[in-house]
Amino acid sequence: MTYLPFTKPTLDEDTIQGVVEVLRSGWLASGPNVQLLEKALSDYHGGRIARTLTSATGGLEVALQVCGIGHGDEVITPAMSFAATPNVIMRVGARPVFVDVDLATRNLDLGRVEAAITPRTKAIMPVHFAGLPVDMDALYAIAEQHKLRVIEDAAHAVGSSWKGRKIGSFGDIVSFSFHPNKNMTTIEGGALTFAFADEVKQFDLLRFHGISRDAEGNMDVSLAGGKYNLSDVAARVGLGQLGQLDGFNARRRELAGHYFQHLASDPACLLPSRGHAGDEAGHSWHMFAPLLPLDSLSIGRKQFIDAMHQRGIGVGIHYPALHLFSLYRELGYKEGDFPNAERIGRETVTLPLFPAMTTADVERVCAALQEIFIEARK
Ligand SMILES: *Cc1c(COP(=O)(O)O)cnc(C)c1O
Repeated sequence: MTYLPFTKPTLDEDTIQGVVEVLRSGWLASGPNVQLLEKALSDYHGGRIARTLTSATGGLEVALQVCGIGHGDEVITPAMSFAATPNVIMRVGARPVFVDVDLATRNLDLGRVEAAITPRTKAIMPVHFAGLPVDMDALYAIAEQHKLRVIEDAAHAVGSSWKGRKIGSFGDIVSFSFHPNKNMTTIEGGALTFAFADEVKQFDLLRFHGISRDAEGNMDVSLAGGKYNLSDVAARVGLGQLGQLDGFNARRRELAGHYFQHLASDPACLLPSRGHAGDEAGHSWHMFAPLLPLDSLSIGRKQFIDAMHQRGIGVGIHYPALHLFSLYRELGYKEGDFPNAERIGRETVTLPLFPAMTTADVERVCAALQEIFIEARK
């Protein structure tokens, strides 16, 4: 029985050959392939200026710096995400202000955002959880009314769209991740798309040592920039991936559809939202993560995951609620603050979903899950 991981990147032969050519070319650091990838990302996102870098975590941090967010400022962000999201807010000296998420969409509950806004609030950092876009109309209406910046953590959402418009092709600053677990990869890496050209200049300085050059090529350093530029080897991987992204995501949607079909029956997990009504094709299905019906089972989540592993199936946890980590408890957060994030954190399991999976794989996962539920039913 072959092991089925919960995620796996798909790299085609053309991309592998392309990488071999870059390795033989003598130019490995940022060069022509980075420029090609940034142009391709810009084209993909309706002409928005796009910049690559070595991680989405670095991208989010630099985006906050570009917006001038730092000590004394507050940034509103969901209590359910990967730790990178609030960590970067802490890293620039600002304070993450958590807001609970919706149980079905796992996205920031926009109805609760306004109550969290204070005179110190400078930005909202939403997450398009599992590839399902936040309600962009409502999000940007709040941001506009309160004059807040929006830095979208779109790590899960490359290729997602809202009412037919790609995430990253509109809005403020949008950050994508190309980690191997995400919908496309550059091994490690990420990208930002920008609304304002003058901020891109600032970003370029922050990405590479603060270095600029005049017409004669004389170098100047105007700020203490960091070092976040992508390699040409990684960019070549990304070029191969971007060309296949829409196909990957279409396959993810198909496989998610099979999960819904097979899990619709008893015993019911709480299934994730299928997408916004009439706009289901905008969901890129980075993950398929139901909530376990732990109240009706005699086993806990750890035992469920172990039982799946025994059947050769990988299961992930995305994620524990952020505010219960010790770093965020130190800010005063505690159990009971965000009931939906806490319930998701306790009950969520990420089932295998990646483009190279077959429908037989989905059936195998669902059969294993149902077998375990039947054995463990109270
Ligand atoms: C993966 C991820 C990140 C960080 O991406 P890296 O490219 O690994 O730095 C940030 N936010 C979320 C929600 C993620 O899932």
